[in-house]
Amino acid sequence: MFVHINIHFGVGIIVASVFNHLLELNFLEFFLVVVFSFICDFDILFSNYALDSNHRMLISHSILPSIIITVLGVIFNWIILIIGGLSYSLHVIIDTFDWGTNFFYFKKKQVGLKLLITKEEFANISMHLSQYKKPGSFFDKKYYGNKGIILTEVIIFISMIMLISIFAFRYFLLIVIYFIFLGFHLHRHFKLKQIESD
Ligand SMILES: [Zn+2]
Repeated sequence: MFVHINIHFGVGIIVASVFNHLLELNFLEFFLVVVFSFICDFDILFSNYALDSNHRMLISHSILPSIIITVLGVIFNWIILIIGGLSYSLHVIIDTFDWGTNFFYFKKKQVGLKLLITKEEFANISMHLSQYKKPGSFFDKKYYGNKGIILTEVIIFISMIMLISIFAFRYFLLIVIYFIFLGFHLHRHFKLKQIESD
């Protein structure tokens, strides 16, 4: 559908592990930095309020929250919020690569490289979606059929395991959450495949 939540989680672990090496974060601080890396994808629950029911158009997928979080970190002199702002902004920046996000919010336009979708598909999206029994199948096929995405998944996974092992081994068990997120997407993938082939 779009850069999956397990990738964002992996990036969060990478950021938190590196900063743990520099600042020795306690569990809560470490966890908070990780949460900031994936929390905004839960805005999918509010898709109904978004333009075209696309959660990528909500303010949560713009650059504004990261700026606010970072500024709050500066005001309250709390470094974790500043790192959290960085972690949040990486999510939104990564999302601009696959099929774009409402980066500047006020422009109400999906910005980004949109590597996962062609100009033609983007312009005629409803026509393409209607070719499937479930619209989600279109995005799922694009995602798992893309070699760049698979490579990114592998690289992020390996980097996450390496960096948490080296810099934050005591929090290693947190990667259980990675597998929950990955399991969610894979389950969905195989379910959609089954529905389309029926
Ligand atoms: Zn996202």
